Amino acid sequence: MDIIRTPPAMNAWAKEMIARGQSIALVPTMGFFHHGHLALMNRASEEADHVVVSLFVNPIQFGPGEDLEKYPRNFEHDAELAQKNGAAVLFAPEAETIYPEGFQTTITVDQVSQGLCGGRRPGHFKGVATVVAKLFNLVRPQVAVFGEKDFQQLAVIRRMVADLAWDIRVIGHPIVREPDGLAMSSRNSYLSATERKNATCLYRAIEKARDLVRGGEKECSFLRSVLFREISSINGVEAEYITFVDAQDLTEQTMVNRASRLVLAVKVGRTRLIDNGSLFSGDT
Ligand code: AMP
Repeated sequence: MDIIRTPPAMNAWAKEMIARGQSIALVPTMGFFHHGHLALMNRASEEADHVVVSLFVNPIQFGPGEDLEKYPRNFEHDAELAQKNGAAVLFAPEAETIYPEGFQTTITVDQVSQGLCGGRRPGHFKGVATVVAKLFNLVRPQVAVFGEKDFQQLAVIRRMVADLAWDIRVIGHPIVREPDGLAMSSRNSYLSATERKNATCLYRAIEKARDLVRGGEKECSFLRSVLFREISSINGVEAEYITFVDAQDLTEQTMVNRASRLVLAVKVGRTRLIDNGSLFSGDT
């Protein structure tokens, strides 16, 4: 596996592969790999001749007071895991090379970025869309793999790719969970033992909603109030949003249907966790 540190070197590598007629799949990440990341890498390996994993803690997608400085990092271990899971390249640039002095072009994906996490983290999806656009131009993938864990992010990327007419197939990979249902996340490392137990409330809420829907309940405001009450009853846990949306365009729904996705953000202690799920059995 090659470790590439600069945009020109990344571009040169991509050009060479394209000249050879070989395809590239990109897996953008912020590192501190867990099985969710590894599943994306393995999926990417099935889709193209070469996998490029990018590892970049993107400063412009963090708001003031968020966890940019303390975001968990372990480069050596990540490099080992990327190599074992089929990456041909680990692209790990410094922020100064991605955003050199004078950088001033950003990408805004309007409606899909509003509400949910976008409402709570202003500028977050602008940062995400901008860095992913830049990665697309440097890596020149035919395929890009993202996790459904970040459901709004996936919708933002799909919209951007369609709107800007990129010839890139975007694959959404199902959420990889711990045995007790907690969605894997680099941020789970922030949780104390008690918080880790409490953090299962997100998946339990999804399961509870599935039960109620199976029992015939369709009204989102009722479902929401049940889930809100259960989550809020836990000490040190606070629901930020619990919303039923259309899985395609993320518009809020009043009645559950086959296209519904439950999306939620919950603060467990000081750690903000997100999760989502379809409401019908057999889905993640
Ligand atoms: P991150 O490093 O957290 O920015 O995540 C990099 C990619 O991995 C994103 O596309 C995420 O949606 C995806 N991802 C993170 N956690 C999971 C998970 N538990 N299951 C599936 N994909 C995930």
